[in-house]
Amino acid sequence: MSTIGPIDSSLTPRYAGPASFARLPRLEQVERADIVVAGIPFDTGVSYRPGARFGPTHVREASRLLRPYHPALDVAPFDVAQVADAGDVAVNPFSIDEAVDTIQAAALDLTADGRTLVTIGGDHTISLPLLRAAAERHGPVALVHFDAHLDTWDTYFGAEYTHGTPFRRAVEEGILDTEALSHVGTRGPLYGKKDLEDDRRFGFGIVTSADVYHQGVVEVVDRLRQRLGSRPVYVSIDIDVLDPAHAPGTGTPEAGGITSRELLEILRGFRGLNVVGADVVEVAPAYDHADITGVAASHVAYDLVSLLALRHETGAGSSHQTKEAR
Ligand code: MN
Ligand code: MN
Repeated sequence: MSTIGPIDSSLTPRYAGPASFARLPRLEQVERADIVVAGIPFDTGVSYRPGARFGPTHVREASRLLRPYHPALDVAPFDVAQVADAGDVAVNPFSIDEAVDTIQAAALDLTADGRTLVTIGGDHTISLPLLRAAAERHGPVALVHFDAHLDTWDTYFGAEYTHGTPFRRAVEEGILDTEALSHVGTRGPLYGKKDLEDDRRFGFGIVTSADVYHQGVVEVVDRLRQRLGSRPVYVSIDIDVLDPAHAPGTGTPEAGGITSRELLEILRGFRGLNVVGADVVEVAPAYDHADITGVAASHVAYDLVSLLALRHETGAGSSHQTKEAR
């Protein structure tokens, strides 16, 4: 089945025209879609620096330079799958509760007809309604959560739905497969040892930022894949998993993070996993000199889309030939 690809950059310069993700067509311009990229400009759940509401626009701008072939995964993602940009979900900036409901409904709408959704945030609050929608489609999902922080805290100033609490709420709601929950890249000071005890009780395993350094990407990928098997898995990437040198434009930076190269290589190790949804959150452009964070986030989103596209290339019902896994 033919696809409508990005704007041809040999005809229209990359810096010209409106920015959609990777210069892809808008959802309303295509008859069908396999993978949808959507922005959620919401940051009312942040506890420190605000500004992630401008993340989707910033990541789309930074994504102009993405090209249509991914050599490391040997896939032309926009050829093997119809990928489209659904624009931004309009959410209430004054009511977290209403925004959470709006996001859940939008995610269900955007994943109709078997589409897979890759979301650009927005702060990490948005992952809760996105996980609710994923669980409604697939049952409780496994989770790989890239973040400097655990995001399994209880409340902030009495608020239950914030960017520091989505995964505790998700465990409480029974929408996660607690046999296969992993944090990757955590580091930095906590409120107390109890934070880790609670987190372990919820079922999370932790690959710290230091583990990535000491064990290396290959061993980390092995550990994660053993835990995941063939379960449906949701991948949530807080851009602050990267060291502030690689992602200064974010709300709660922590020293000692992984590099963008390490993050991309770990993601490439997920080839063949049953990824059912993904998000990239916490890009706050006001602190992002030289678009460092926007470029990193756009490449991370491109790798997520490419992983999903590979599944269309190799999946049943595809007209494309099966490629050997490498
Ligand atoms: Mn974080
Ligand atoms: Mn987070």
